[in-house]
Amino acid sequence: MKKPVYLDFAATTPVDPLVAEEMMNFLTADGVFGNPASRSHGFGWQAEAAVERARRQVANLIHADPREIVWTSGATESDNLAIKGVIESCRERFAESGGQAHIVTSVIEHKAVVDTCRYLERQGVEVTWLKPAEDGRTAPEQVKKALRDNTVLVSLMQVNNELGCVNDIAATGAMLRERGVVFHVDAAQAAGKLEVNVEQLNVDLLSLSAHKVYGPKGIGALYVRRAPDVRVVSQIHGGGHERGMRSGTLPTHQIVGMGKAFEIAGRHLDGEREHIEGLRAQLLDHLAGLRGVMVNGSASHRVPGIINISFQGVDAESLMLGLRDLAVSSGSACSSATVEPSFVLRGIGLTDIQARQALRFSLGRYTTSDEVEFAASRIIDSVTRLRAVR
Ligand SMILES: *Cc1c(COP(=O)(O)O)cnc(C)c1O
Repeated sequence: MKKPVYLDFAATTPVDPLVAEEMMNFLTADGVFGNPASRSHGFGWQAEAAVERARRQVANLIHADPREIVWTSGATESDNLAIKGVIESCRERFAESGGQAHIVTSVIEHKAVVDTCRYLERQGVEVTWLKPAEDGRTAPEQVKKALRDNTVLVSLMQVNNELGCVNDIAATGAMLRERGVVFHVDAAQAAGKLEVNVEQLNVDLLSLSAHKVYGPKGIGALYVRRAPDVRVVSQIHGGGHERGMRSGTLPTHQIVGMGKAFEIAGRHLDGEREHIEGLRAQLLDHLAGLRGVMVNGSASHRVPGIINISFQGVDAESLMLGLRDLAVSSGSACSSATVEPSFVLRGIGLTDIQARQALRFSLGRYTTSDEVEFAASRIIDSVTRLRAVR
């Protein structure tokens, strides 16, 4: 059977062959397999050198100092460490005054942020859940209005994983820096897709993941600003690795893979964006022949690779069944009994019905023009057929 065309790069990406090749050198007895924390022999020193080189590669992509990079298991852990770590760092301050810390975030953040904030809310932390505009963006003004005396943290994503829309992180960051509020940004969908410069963005904490950037799954990083110093309390204890912020033996092969992937992404940032921009235009050109097609999320402030479309009068689950030779995502969280419409699409004001008519197509490094051609014709056929039988 022919493999379906992969149009789900926002869910995960295949590992770049150059990355996989590099990782192979850090596993077996004839490679660099030592524990990077081993200080007494060359096996450890070599592994440590590889880890530090990767740390520079990751830092370079976001214009950070390597000492500001903390390895984690992925963006989910980075989000947890950032949010819980900041709240815990000011627990004593609030315990003395009898008050509570306050977080500002949005209703369309990734579940790693939403569920972490909900967890803290149950523990008494105050949370303001901002509702973004129809285009999926949360304006700096909105954030500013939500600030209180006890606001210690704002968490906003740079690029939304379902919509592809891009927030104005730089303006929000400048405003928060003036007020001394810590700013956390989930950049899992931004890194490798657009320029991410932690200095220009005025970000204090930034979550990254390797597997969205053609690196391996199970490795990520949290950028933690050194000047002005941001305090983050460790969530995983045992040995004091990563300047006490995240214990655990470093997975050298994973780390080297992430470093290589980020290095490659940095070199091809512009070329890749142009490539994907062209494919996006091609897909949307074809679909313009269909009536009742609505592209969700901002038309101008967006990354090209994530395209979320509602097809009027067509149930997305039925459409996906018709598109079995395309690997796409409905953005719905399926539980056993019910298919809930996407909380992100509901969050930007779509009705349940509109949200149930949406599919996310995400394009990437290996997507070809032929694949887009094929996808477009399959989509047009299926939508037309489903509309005819209604
Ligand atoms: C994929 C993703 C995550 C989770 O990253 P993992 O490395 O899989 O834990 C978090 N935030 C966003 C925006 C993502 O797209």
